[in-house]
Amino acid sequence: MTIGILGGGQLGYMLALAGYPLGLHFRFLDPSPQAPVGRIAHRVTAEYSDLDALEKFAHGLELVTYEFENVPVEAARFLTKHVSVYPSPEALEAAQDRLSEKKLFPRLGIAPASFAEVSSTNDLEAAVKKIGLPAVLKTRRMGYDGKGQWVLRTPEDVQRVKAEFSQAALLLEDFVAFQRELSILAVRSRSGETAFYPLVENHHRNGILRLAVAPAPKLSAALQKAGERAAERVLQELNYVGVLAIEFFECDGELVANEMAPRVHNSGHWSIEGAATSQFENHLRAVLGLPLGSAATTGHSAMLNLIGEVPESAEVLAIPDTHLHLYGKSPRPGRKVGHVTLRAASFEELSTRLAQLPAFFQRAEFCLPSSSVATTNRL
Ligand code: AMP
Repeated sequence: MTIGILGGGQLGYMLALAGYPLGLHFRFLDPSPQAPVGRIAHRVTAEYSDLDALEKFAHGLELVTYEFENVPVEAARFLTKHVSVYPSPEALEAAQDRLSEKKLFPRLGIAPASFAEVSSTNDLEAAVKKIGLPAVLKTRRMGYDGKGQWVLRTPEDVQRVKAEFSQAALLLEDFVAFQRELSILAVRSRSGETAFYPLVENHHRNGILRLAVAPAPKLSAALQKAGERAAERVLQELNYVGVLAIEFFECDGELVANEMAPRVHNSGHWSIEGAATSQFENHLRAVLGLPLGSAATTGHSAMLNLIGEVPESAEVLAIPDTHLHLYGKSPRPGRKVGHVTLRAASFEELSTRLAQLPAFFQRAEFCLPSSSVATTNRL
């Protein structure tokens, strides 16, 4: 049985690694001839807009899913004529546009940061009046890892971005003074069965995830319930099939929704070793209509992204209960080339291990928490 995956990056790579023990084969489509999955699976190099290539790609596949959310919706729609596609193109579409996400959340009783639509720079001043400063201006589409967003602190910043954008589909958001950032990974199968991973505490720098701690330290049952309730509503509303990630800000014990991703997510990589069933395996189970695996944690985990450079393997693996994942990408500044997951029986033990990491990890970019209490907004 062969699964087709749109996108050939590290998320696809880890999906395939989780699928091989289930007897699955994989075929990937990615515009880049360098996409990392080429190391381990059949990769078709073609543009997502190449309908002939898409049709050939679909031939003989059991189903198609994505590892990249900015696949054009038209490509996903076109594929549905030939093969089942999960999550549906409608769900993909809802998660591609920050504005439609922001409108969906309150309809489902989920609070987003206050926002205003900015369809031209003429709207910007009115939006600033409504939202106030500081604020974050974001492109509606194609933003990830902090790309396509600007913090506006002063009226001069507003004038500067106004001069930079002649036309753009943007939105302006309140700059949230959060206590910490959390995310939830949820999964729903074709039969409607659901499973939820614990909320994870995420630390970003320059908009890129550096460290994820699972479960989030000091996670109350009430907060977990709130995260699950929000995810459950989105899953039901979109008739969603697969893994869905929702990122939140925690503000005075409440969850404020930031954004969602219709795919496996970087803040869930810890689940490979830190949960009974990884997000990757559960995504495959979900799209195939197989029973889901337990999302329960096996102890406490911390995931550190390797960005731009790779440490010595021997140095990393000398740390007890530590797992190294390298994606086979050539290092470049700002590029995610791998991750490391540390596990421990208790949060205290995990904190001690994080504090004793070798020199490579002591740099600021790893955002190692100085205490178990999360840092405040660093933007
Ligand atoms: P995003 O691409 O929306 O996930 O944003 C990347 C990171 O920028 C987030 O993880 C936050 O650290 C920060 N950020 C995004 N939006 C806001 C906001 N409205 N207020 C404060 N920080 C934000």
